[in-house]
Amino acid sequence: MIATANPTMQNIIEERTVEERPFLPYGRQSIDEDDIQAVVDVLRSDWLTTGPKVGEFERAFAEATGAKEAVAISNGTAALHAAVYAADIGPGDEVIVTPMTFAASANCIVYQGATPVFADVDPATLLLYPAQVEAKITPKTKAIVAVDYAGQPCDYDALCQLAQAHGLTLIADACHSLGGSYKGRPVGTLADLNTFSLHPVKHITTGEGGVITTDDTEMARRMRTFRNHGITTDHRQREAQGSWFYEMVDLGYNYRLTDIQCALGISQLKKLPAWIQCRQEIAQIYDRAFAAVPAITPLTLQPELSHAYHLYVIRLNLDLLCVDRAQIFADLRAGGIGVNVHYVPVHLHPFYKERFGTHAGMCPVAEAAYAQILSLPIFPAMTEVDAERVIHTCLDIVTRNRQ
Ligand SMILES: *Cc1c(COP(=O)(O)O)cnc(C)c1O
Repeated sequence: MIATANPTMQNIIEERTVEERPFLPYGRQSIDEDDIQAVVDVLRSDWLTTGPKVGEFERAFAEATGAKEAVAISNGTAALHAAVYAADIGPGDEVIVTPMTFAASANCIVYQGATPVFADVDPATLLLYPAQVEAKITPKTKAIVAVDYAGQPCDYDALCQLAQAHGLTLIADACHSLGGSYKGRPVGTLADLNTFSLHPVKHITTGEGGVITTDDTEMARRMRTFRNHGITTDHRQREAQGSWFYEMVDLGYNYRLTDIQCALGISQLKKLPAWIQCRQEIAQIYDRAFAAVPAITPLTLQPELSHAYHLYVIRLNLDLLCVDRAQIFADLRAGGIGVNVHYVPVHLHPFYKERFGTHAGMCPVAEAAYAQILSLPIFPAMTEVDAERVIHTCLDIVTRNRQ
């Protein structure tokens, strides 16, 4: 449950001038004494990395998501890289990806020498649109990278059906949706490979960190080798066997997650269900407030799923306003509301334009949405008073800038 304000606190906050009110970021971590103690305990132990906490965290994460296997890795970008590697993607292959995401969702395809192909999104949810994916499938297509944008799971029934019909690997970039579910099935089990980030703005954090979940034990084994230089045994296994011999069987990286980080992850994971509830409660407060405001439209919530609300995204109906998104953004920031824009569509980044010839006009729905979107603050430590302050500031700015 999110903290409700006691009346005196509310008065104190409302009497403060704008300058005195704390800046509300769009997201931030929650760390308590349990988390700190868990990290300190590892610092006093024998293993700072490649020790027992890694397997312990992997088992806890697999249990929390209902997946058979969870592979801990150094960050969410490395998780995507390992997933594309596990899917056996290489030069000459095409992978279909959404443009409405952080660049890493497409970069992982380029890391393996393959070509990203951008498919447009559904205008109501900004999630990858299955019909657009289908239209982009060619004989070279090997995989789909879907992103659960803002925390709402994609249409996995349709995406799985497409993947099966065309023999593609389905990768879910679930960096926004840890703790969510689709038709009663938890995020982490919805695609062949599901990737997560443990960056401080995400649902749980290890500072930097990532995880891949899968039901395929062979893929999990290959990803554990990949995160350790492509070497088949790790330092602790060799110590246990009293052996120095090891073999590098494939080109891998040092993408390991430390025991210090895994201990933090184990501690954070326990709080995930309560934090998802906080995020959903804040989202409901926003939904109720904006329902009657024509200039502000939240993204459409699909039925039969649980939205994990990494982000709370609104769309501005610019026809009703006399200023653009940049001005609303600046006014909100000036009012202490740490709004952000997620994301610049990936195909519009200079790297993609230059390397792959992408251009404006390729994904018109994503491009139109990009001009309108704003992410409002949402994180578990926010109070109801914080949410009300965001709402009042939004309504005030929108009213002042009505056409
Ligand atoms: C955060 C994020 C990533 C990257 O995760 P890092 O841990 O920062 O490397 C990838 N994809 C999406 C959709 C993300 O939100």
